[in-house]
Amino acid sequence: AQLDTLDIVVLAALLLGTIAYLTKGSYWAVTKSPATSSNAAAGNKPQKTRNIVEKMEQSNKNCVVFYGSQTGTAEDYASRLAKEGKSRFGLETMVADLEEYDFDNLDSLGDDKVAMFVLATYGEGEPTDNAVDFYEFITAEDASFSQAADPPLGNLKFVAFGLGNNTYEHYNSMVRNVTKALEKLGAQRIGAAGEGDDGAGTMEEDFLAWKDPMWKALAEKMGLEEREAVYDPVFTVEEKEDLTKESPEVYLGEPNKMHLEGAAKGPFNAHNPYIAPITESRELFNVKDRNCLHMEIDISGSNLSYETGDHIAVWPTNPGKEVDRFLRVTGLIAKRDQVISVKPLEQTAKVPFPSPTTYDAVVRYHMEICAPVSRQFLATLAAFAPTEQAKAEMTKLGNDKDYFHEKITNRCFNIAQALEAVGGQDQWTAIPFSALIEGLNKVQPRYYSISSSSLVQKKKISITAVVESVELPGRDALKGVTTNYLLALMQKQQGVANPDPHGLTYEITGPRNKYDGIHVPVHVRHSNFKLPSDPSKPIIMIGPGTGVAPFRGFIQERAAQAKAGQNVGRTLLFFGCRKASEDFLYSSEWKEYEDALGDKFSLITAFSRDGPNKVYVQHRLLEQAKEVNELLEQKAYFYVCGDAANMAREVNAALIKITAEQRGIPDAKAEEIVKSMRSANQYQEDVW
Ligand code: FAD
Repeated sequence: AQLDTLDIVVLAALLLGTIAYLTKGSYWAVTKSPATSSNAAAGNKPQKTRNIVEKMEQSNKNCVVFYGSQTGTAEDYASRLAKEGKSRFGLETMVADLEEYDFDNLDSLGDDKVAMFVLATYGEGEPTDNAVDFYEFITAEDASFSQAADPPLGNLKFVAFGLGNNTYEHYNSMVRNVTKALEKLGAQRIGAAGEGDDGAGTMEEDFLAWKDPMWKALAEKMGLEEREAVYDPVFTVEEKEDLTKESPEVYLGEPNKMHLEGAAKGPFNAHNPYIAPITESRELFNVKDRNCLHMEIDISGSNLSYETGDHIAVWPTNPGKEVDRFLRVTGLIAKRDQVISVKPLEQTAKVPFPSPTTYDAVVRYHMEICAPVSRQFLATLAAFAPTEQAKAEMTKLGNDKDYFHEKITNRCFNIAQALEAVGGQDQWTAIPFSALIEGLNKVQPRYYSISSSSLVQKKKISITAVVESVELPGRDALKGVTTNYLLALMQKQQGVANPDPHGLTYEITGPRNKYDGIHVPVHVRHSNFKLPSDPSKPIIMIGPGTGVAPFRGFIQERAAQAKAGQNVGRTLLFFGCRKASEDFLYSSEWKEYEDALGDKFSLITAFSRDGPNKVYVQHRLLEQAKEVNELLEQKAYFYVCGDAANMAREVNAALIKITAEQRGIPDAKAEEIVKSMRSANQYQEDVW
């Protein structure tokens, strides 16, 4: 039902009071103290307004593209929309991080403006970290706006695109729920709310297919004239002849000013990593061509803390081989150490790295140069091709989805590999560096499920990371950025003079040798994947492969509790891998925990390549149906960690089957029970 003005005003007053009390002023027009602002962590940014209406007025914008992004894709799509809006339709666009604005005055945005929302759904249908406050605000039943009218957002025009993964139950729930909430508040959606599906591997194409009709609808609604798109830089890049890479004010990959000046202080977070020592590292696999790393990361020199079940984010460095390729193909290799100053051409644009810096540092530390390339970006670069032939090829790749798929996607080319494939020996010297900054994502930290217990080792974080290496026909293997960097760090720790996994080479001592002595930049992300607070509750854990990571932490914790005389409940772990002799993670360690936990602990293994039949964890789970069901009836917690695409789904199906068979109820009823276990947090997933 729609609320009338009086309701809104009354609810607004009530809600405002409650929220102000509960959040101690983190909502509404309460001025934030610098210490709580997300920017303060970076240490070098001036305070700025959180009022989006004011911001747009000040900077003469009529289109804001908000993003809720976890891994950078939504942020990238947001900047692409902003660029396209400007170059094709003359919109005055800006990109905005949802975390940096308040939303209580969205009602006064004005109907000559448009707000775009590019929203990723994270994990179990959750908002991304930077969208949590926005999401709570906009979906609150009685979200209230400063000048409540009926309906409060009647003036707001919006478009929306969601990034999701159909293997998760709450597919694209962010964009769906936000669209619903905005419409309920009276906002007018322009075009369909788009949905991109990472699970089907069609995200980019879904985005491209969504945006054309959206632009058409928007142009009609706002009376925009389409014009010939020309590249319009967002940044200026000036080569500084008065500075060299030795100049103390030049960033060589340091993430922010504090790091440059040598005294990086906390709080350490997603804007400010801690350069942590790796105190120990070892190989967990017993097989030549695959690696899985166990590392101990020491956080005792920082104020970082963690709880069992949290995630640690590792900030990677690009491999030298790909940095060189990128600089070579763009014609920058001879001047890789040239100092450049990068500035935004207008006040709402943000340079995604600190400046002054060098070409080398930007490419090595700040650009996601190894990732898949977007078709749209190749189309943009056609204008800067070295030859007419290359230009025609780039245009074809940009326009022809199937051709692009065959030539680029199927071969997993990154940007420099794609440019090499199109241009041959020719260098692409005409591409403005600003276009590369704008067109490529910024490097994203990668998350790892912490594989230690904070009760056992409070200041030391373990990780268990399998090194990504995908064999592809007709080209070198595709190498994961972060895990191969970590592999090089392990090699260095083991005394290899020039660690060089697979010829990748890394600037392993970091900018100005600040990571020497084997350090890696990290921060901790708190998660909801947690043991029951009462250790006597039974738990069932399904963790094949590196999915076992958090469960090593859980079991370490329970073993310590048992040793301390606490009553620990039944603890079942299902682990799976290929062969007992090759990739059985922590195989000798489990015995220790068995000693401490006695018959409370059972490890149930599934080896898929040891026998005639492929046996996976879900098969073992079915074999243990009776005990699993009994434990669940005693309110055991059920955890799944690891592969989201197949395993987590299979396990879910197995659990429904067990529930139906053991309780003698229909499948539909069992499905409902499993669903309600999820909503009650009795069934938790940590999948990727
Ligand atoms: P990336 O460089 O990011 O590549 C990853 C994959 O992307 C490649 O294998 C390939 O499939 C694709 N790809 C990359 N480049 C291209 C290209 N040019 N063309 C086409 N495809 C490409 N991992 C663990 O090992 N252990 C854990 O405990 C763990 N916990 C996690 C917890 C969470 C919450 C999340 C989100 C992830 C977790 N991961 C874990 C996964 C981890 O974060 C990384 O994704 C993984 O280690 C790969 O990172 P990378 O930088 O080495 O590979």
